[in-house]
Amino acid sequence: QTDLKPLLEQNRKHVTPALTRLHDAIIVKGQGCTVWDQEGNEFLDLTAGIGVTNLGHSHPAVTAAVVNQAQQISHVQCSVAFSLPYLQLVESLLPLMPHPSLDTFFFWNSGSEAIEMALKLVKRASNRPNVIVMQGSYHGRTHGASALTKSKNVYTMGTGATMNGVYTTPFPYWHSLGVDPATPEEELVKMAKFQLELLIKQQTAGGDVAALFIEPVIGEGGYVPAPASWLQFLREFCDKHGILLVIDEVQTGFGRTGKMFMSEYSGVRADVMIFAKGLANGYPLSGVVASRELMAKQEPGTIGGTYAGNAVSCAAAVAVAEVFKTQPIIENVNARSAQLFEMLNGLKSSPKTANLIADVRGKGLMVACEFASAGDALTVKDGVTIPANVGKRVQQKCQAAGLFILTTSCFDTIRFIPPLVITEEEMARACKVFAQAVEEVAR
Ligand code: PMP
Repeated sequence: QTDLKPLLEQNRKHVTPALTRLHDAIIVKGQGCTVWDQEGNEFLDLTAGIGVTNLGHSHPAVTAAVVNQAQQISHVQCSVAFSLPYLQLVESLLPLMPHPSLDTFFFWNSGSEAIEMALKLVKRASNRPNVIVMQGSYHGRTHGASALTKSKNVYTMGTGATMNGVYTTPFPYWHSLGVDPATPEEELVKMAKFQLELLIKQQTAGGDVAALFIEPVIGEGGYVPAPASWLQFLREFCDKHGILLVIDEVQTGFGRTGKMFMSEYSGVRADVMIFAKGLANGYPLSGVVASRELMAKQEPGTIGGTYAGNAVSCAAAVAVAEVFKTQPIIENVNARSAQLFEMLNGLKSSPKTANLIADVRGKGLMVACEFASAGDALTVKDGVTIPANVGKRVQQKCQAAGLFILTTSCFDTIRFIPPLVITEEEMARACKVFAQAVEEVAR
């Protein structure tokens, strides 16, 4: 076997140190929920490339579609001509949309690019300058998208002024509102409504707001599902002020939360929906969808991109849609979600670990376990000392036991975002490793 260590050292020297990486492993193969490094070590992957390989690594139907398309033609630039999978993809996606008004698409490569297009679309369509975003939100790293991102200060650190006209309002969540964790949901929604009403009285007139952007489950900011009543209120609020509602389903889409799209739970219609990640199971592809009428507000020729809607990525996405049609993926999400919640709620109520755990939350296979420790410092809860950095230590223990697992930006939180095809046995194994790691840290 070739020793890849020198190559890795070269990479460390010649790739920007601004990029950090969780694991030192060189991953050479993936199958379903498992990945292998070059030394043959096996890991159960509970990250799915941050919610991308929803059908598992190297899904045979997706791989076959990709190989077939690559053999035919890999790139047909979307402003030059059509590729066959580009045509097929529209047909595959139309029946999956959460509302029939979402019938006109544009395909990009990444979530951030789709957000950039949505920003231009809502401003052009409304002739209004401002947008509202939720505290804790993550919408991407490009210039406009990072101006909408409020989960962590690093995305705009040192860059000076970001895009102007962005207003932030609290999400109905205790961290966002700075209240007691036991505050009932209706109370949180009431407080968040009050703050939003105040925002348009004090900071920007509703008539100056083009759009309100929201992730239906706050992702990087802590895996917090939006209460249905909050989304329903936002729909009414937007209608009242002529504001467009943009729902960012980049991470929540394609079965992740136990329905094809998270907005199906609340029944709230988006004016613009953004999707990516699970769409093409690992190939770069994203989409913006809106009504024909809204999309037509951008003049012909104002939209395009060299790789936008790449033929190979579109072929992968067509295969993904077919798998969802023919296999019980969503059923598996709900069954495995229940299994995961049972383990986490068990830890939350067990006398050995209860003190460590502040909150267990999420939807489907987008689940978070928040620890009571506040980062680097020792904290005391109910007279008991909580060790520092519990999440990081649990994460390291899990990795040593062969489990890839992620944290979020919200305080001390581990997030679970496995491939949706994770089996009962794999989930049981992951739960056992995680529970053991938490118990060891608690000792
Ligand atoms: N929106 C959400 C909700 C996301 O989770 C992400 C990526 N984590 C993005 C936008 C940005 O997508 P990308 O990284 O593909 O640009």
